Amino acid sequence: MKSVYFFNEGDGSNKKLFGGKGAGLAEMTKLGLLVPPGFTITTEVCNMYYANGKKLPRNLMSEVKKNIAKIERKAGKKFGSIENPLLVSVRSGAAISMPGMMDTILNLGLNDKTVIGLAKKSNNPRFALDSYRRFLQLFGKVVFGIDDKKFVQVLEKAKHAQTVQVDSDLNEESLKQIVSEYKAICENHLGKPFPEDPYNQLELAIEAVFRSWMGERAVVYREKYKITKDIANGTAVSVVTMVFGNMGNDSTTGVVFTRNPGDGTNKVFGEYLINAQGEDVVAGIRTPQPIDNLAKELPKTYAQLMKTCEKLEKHYKEPQDIEFTVEQGKFYMLQTRSAKMNAVGMIKTSVDMVKEKLISKDRALLRLQPEQLDQLLHKTIDTDAAKNHPSIVKGIAASPGAATGVVVFDVKKAAKMGEDGVKVILVREETKPEDVPAFFASVGILTSRGGKTSHAAVVARGMGKPCIVGCSDMKIDYASKKFLVDTKTVFEGEVITIDGSDGQVFLGEVPTVEPKITDDFRTILSWAEKTKRLGIRANADTPESAKLAREYGAKGIGLCRTERMFNARDRLGLFVEMIMTRTVGERKAVLEKLMVLQKSDFKEILKVMKGHHVTIRLLDPPLHEFLPNIEELINKVHSLEKQNDSNEIDSTKKILERARELAEINPMMGHRGVRVGITFPEIYEMQIRAICEAAAELSKEKVDAHAQIMIPQVGNVTELNNIKKIYDKIKSSVESKYGLKLKINFGTMLEVVRACLTADEIAKVTEFFSFGTNDLTQAVFSFSREDAESKFLPEYLEKEILTENPFQSLDVNGVGSLMQIAIARGRSVKPNLEIGICGEHGGDPNSVKFCHKARLSYVSTSSHRIPIAILAAAQAALLEKSEKKFKSKTKKPRRR
Ligand code: ADP
Ligand code: MG
Ligand code: MG
Repeated sequence: MKSVYFFNEGDGSNKKLFGGKGAGLAEMTKLGLLVPPGFTITTEVCNMYYANGKKLPRNLMSEVKKNIAKIERKAGKKFGSIENPLLVSVRSGAAISMPGMMDTILNLGLNDKTVIGLAKKSNNPRFALDSYRRFLQLFGKVVFGIDDKKFVQVLEKAKHAQTVQVDSDLNEESLKQIVSEYKAICENHLGKPFPEDPYNQLELAIEAVFRSWMGERAVVYREKYKITKDIANGTAVSVVTMVFGNMGNDSTTGVVFTRNPGDGTNKVFGEYLINAQGEDVVAGIRTPQPIDNLAKELPKTYAQLMKTCEKLEKHYKEPQDIEFTVEQGKFYMLQTRSAKMNAVGMIKTSVDMVKEKLISKDRALLRLQPEQLDQLLHKTIDTDAAKNHPSIVKGIAASPGAATGVVVFDVKKAAKMGEDGVKVILVREETKPEDVPAFFASVGILTSRGGKTSHAAVVARGMGKPCIVGCSDMKIDYASKKFLVDTKTVFEGEVITIDGSDGQVFLGEVPTVEPKITDDFRTILSWAEKTKRLGIRANADTPESAKLAREYGAKGIGLCRTERMFNARDRLGLFVEMIMTRTVGERKAVLEKLMVLQKSDFKEILKVMKGHHVTIRLLDPPLHEFLPNIEELINKVHSLEKQNDSNEIDSTKKILERARELAEINPMMGHRGVRVGITFPEIYEMQIRAICEAAAELSKEKVDAHAQIMIPQVGNVTELNNIKKIYDKIKSSVESKYGLKLKINFGTMLEVVRACLTADEIAKVTEFFSFGTNDLTQAVFSFSREDAESKFLPEYLEKEILTENPFQSLDVNGVGSLMQIAIARGRSVKPNLEIGICGEHGGDPNSVKFCHKARLSYVSTSSHRIPIAILAAAQAALLEKSEKKFKSKTKKPRRR
């Protein structure tokens, strides 16, 4: 097994083996871009390191030495030489980019002797010392695990002593002092001398990078982003000849995106720092310059940068996120990867790149992540309302969207509060990779330092969380837990609103508006619409959400839950009254009143969805769910007894009595759905009549309404037959009342295992099926969802007993198999049977892909997830197309 590859031997497409960084360096080398010579140690070696009980494979260092020799020949420098020393960086890089989660060491190869050589050779002692102090700090932190604060304190002290603001103004004397203090820090920590031998340094650094793969930050990051072993398994190590952006004012280092990652505009976006190295740009130590300034400051370099960006985009057909360094006018590429963008940016670049003929429409759709569209379906500040609500301070808009929450300064506290459900805005001077858990728990992030490529900005954008950085007018006082702007003081715990789209910070809560679909978004949705095969319907119970669903492109309603209507304030009283009735006669009288209300609800929804199917599910939950809970009622009786309110006591006691009668041991499997319909037929009769009359009246009004009636919880065809009789009777009575014929499909949910297994019998009496995958998942796993999610599912996921919450992402092997049985049996009777899915899975991209493969007719999901489902359905169709192509290619008969 080859474990080390020189850049020109590598393979740019094999990120699993070389890591994203190593693959990119190899690919750029092949493209003819100027990359400092170097090599990559594969991820396989990382895995061997762990398999060996954290030991490097025996022959590794000799391979490394051979490759260092190659570098030496190319660079014309020698590792460890005191005349012309070669320095390298030792860089981490996994298959998936995990920005800042693992470690990198710069300027390796320096020691007390080589630093003198470097000073002489470069004729620049200041530069040599600057590189040395950087090396000591990084090596101390990464290899020895020394707290970075110790180094930072020394640096701050030196700046203070020399009365300068920024590190680039430190003189030789100060740097010498820093170097000796840094060494002392390391040696104190180690209790022995600092390793001087460059190969020894290199070996320690390689090991440290491998260790950082299992570092806490990296592990948490992988967990949160579900980066499993088959996505990224171990880190590679790239060893790269150092080039120096800190060699003077004709040297610089920068980070740019080939297009703006905030809004997708086709303009290079990013920042640079003159006379700086490595992480200075992102660390927010000095304020970096916007890349446009480079055109004036170093015009040749700027031109080269622009040319490079263009070349990379043409090659990768994807906007890139690049790192470059210029050493005395010479332009080097140090990294390239596909740019992470927010949804606005992804959509705009998809549309633009098709217009520019850089990519096809299919590729434009496939490069998007359906889940990411969720960001566009989020709130922004109501600009009108914000007019009367002056902002208290403005920073740099780093990640769009608006968020309101309480100010928290402490990272651990923010993480804790966020997990407890408090809306937290994390407010910091700057953030570090170890703060990432607090990002997950916060609704927004606000920092006083750093630019658009600072850590806080990059991480927040990746998560789609509103973020403002570089808010330098905000003075944070961690000790007394407050920040100061102008004359205002804001204490921890106070509510603020941040607008990550324009950088404004407001005191208190500012009204927000729901998002609008932009033209580019519409374009994407229209391409997706033409590409997909699956139908997309909405789960919508009110005319408002039906309208929103139409706006987002839903064609029909797959699930209209009638009980939601009973929960409305003006209905619940009536419904409870109905439950309290003791005789059929009494019950019918109350139901008569409810019918009027339901009919008008149905009419409105059917109108909004005219021309499309609206599937109305008859009452599903058990009746006691509409009554207050028993404990509450008992308490109420007690307190009423104290007040001696005899009337109320009586009625409350009656409700309590009824609630006790209706109480069930396991309501999920209890008296609900069709079982209520059969035992209280007058309820379903009322609902069926309301639907039939609504349809009849709309037909008279010439509205093209398509209601469908869906029966929940069916397990047995005889249950259905029973309700079908009621349906037939009522439908014909309504038909004769209005003097017309109605076409209202009769169908069932498939959410009981027995129904799936007898789908052929059930298909005979139904015109459609709709999988209720929430209940079906409960039934297949024998999990009660609420108990599972609150008691053991989190631990199951942590211990990887399950890789995914089956209530969020459809369990293809189990629930999916059962669905396939039902589909096959149902369509064996009626080949064109309409079969949909209306569980929450209908809006989950992976589940949508399964539904496409299983040849469902449609998926139905909540209104705000419609665009996600449309895109996921289009991607499923495209994947199928490319799989077919691949199959037909590989199946070609071999010629003899
Ligand atoms: P990360 O994965 O955290 O971005 P990198 O390995 O890319 O870490 O290193 C961080 C920074 O260090 C780079 O952006 C670059 O500026 C600098 N760097 C790394 N290798 C070199 C090198 N060989 N010469 C000059 N600078 C380097
Ligand atoms: Mg970094
Ligand atoms: Mg990098």
